[in-house]
Amino acid sequence: MSITTLLSEMTNKQQEEKESLNLFFSTQTVIQKALTKLGYKNEMYELLKEPIRLLTVRIPVRMDDGTVKVFTGYRSQHNDAVGPTKGGVRFHPDVDEEEVKALSIWMTLKCGITNLPYGGGKGGIICDPRKMSFRELERLSRGYVRAISQIVGPTKDIPAPDVYTNSQIMAWMMDEYSRLREFDSPGFITGKPIVLGGSQGRETATARGVTICIEEAVKKKGINLQGARVVIQGFGNAGSYLAKFMHDAGAKVIGISDVYGAIHDPNGLDIDYLLDRRDSFGTVTQLFKDTITNQELLELDCDILVPAAISNQITAKNAANIKASIVVEAANGPTTLEATKILTERGVLLVPDILASAGGVTVSYFEWVQNNQGYYWTEEEVNDKLSKVMICSFENIYQTSQTHQVDMRLAAYMVGIRKVAEASSFRGWV
Ligand code: NAD
Repeated sequence: MSITTLLSEMTNKQQEEKESLNLFFSTQTVIQKALTKLGYKNEMYELLKEPIRLLTVRIPVRMDDGTVKVFTGYRSQHNDAVGPTKGGVRFHPDVDEEEVKALSIWMTLKCGITNLPYGGGKGGIICDPRKMSFRELERLSRGYVRAISQIVGPTKDIPAPDVYTNSQIMAWMMDEYSRLREFDSPGFITGKPIVLGGSQGRETATARGVTICIEEAVKKKGINLQGARVVIQGFGNAGSYLAKFMHDAGAKVIGISDVYGAIHDPNGLDIDYLLDRRDSFGTVTQLFKDTITNQELLELDCDILVPAAISNQITAKNAANIKASIVVEAANGPTTLEATKILTERGVLLVPDILASAGGVTVSYFEWVQNNQGYYWTEEEVNDKLSKVMICSFENIYQTSQTHQVDMRLAAYMVGIRKVAEASSFRGWV
């Protein structure tokens, strides 16, 4: 083989690896496959492969030391044929335009899967909230709302919490929007504190949705959840509540992790102690000496693995070493397409992110409905409604995967994209 051919092959391989890790590219790839399977022409793909609207904003913030720092933020609206767009706002140093675009498409898919009357939206600000004071975060949150106020609103686009944003940030954003519009607008944003119109059960909704998916998945695999060994990557909002729910269900949580590392005990970790000691950023492992790495955690011998931290964690490099027979994606995009193929070929049941983590947006929808009607439900009512939506969504996708002989990810995309494609057709857009 000539040097030129070798170099060109290496470049192709590197390009493939890069594309596989690119969430936006992978999303478009699966959307195209799903639309083709559903019999849509390429025109529909042309409409749905990109968000209809993307706003980039620059937000000047007066820092505590008197200097002004200018932050970059985004708001992406994938498609509003079904209804207003909906999706979280992420505060993270790694936020970028492509990621926000991909996440907004996933929100369309999640809303399609759970049959909510929304399209997908997503926002993000490039910042490191761990290095900012409380008041700096308030100024940044308010500045972001002022910058995007023209394209958002209770009947246009409804933000929510995501990575490193919480109910306090939602409260500042709602207050800023209400001041701009000169009327109280609780339905502008979800994930608010209860006293400001938040919903019972919203805080735990994502983890509860993941739990329901695990309960359904173990039935399909013939595994008893009592005593099943569970490993969870990430101990934030999604991961920590999930650990609690798994522990309460009688499963043995044998490994958890955060950004600094992971801890492992084959006899089961003391979840209540860890919950008590974790900080508001979902970190706890610094308290321990015998830690392992996040990569080692993913490859632990267990029955159920739940990536609940960040994207691109299970790749072609480690997929063959994953020992779990069920992988449930609580995080957005933790498994690459190549890894999905490897796991599926090995008989691992992979419950994809757009299904597994749809509990958050489902209860966000319940919050918006309660805000609109001014009548509030009990936690039991919320959990009961969430449970029905998640069980029905899981079964629909599982049956689609069996009928069409496709993996659960493609099945979820087929179910998720159908509603927005039909709505776009009826509106005469395509
Ligand atoms: P969070 O900010 O509350 O917690 C994130 C956790 O991941 C923390 O424990 C953090 O230490 C850990 N982490 C961060 N960087 C890491 C790294 N490089 N390696 C290993 N661990 C790392 O976030 P969250 O709300 O729990 O969200 C976690 C994932 O779930 C994200 O992908 C998010 O998009 C997804 N998700 C969350 C919700 C929700 O309602 N919270 C809804 C849908 C999807």
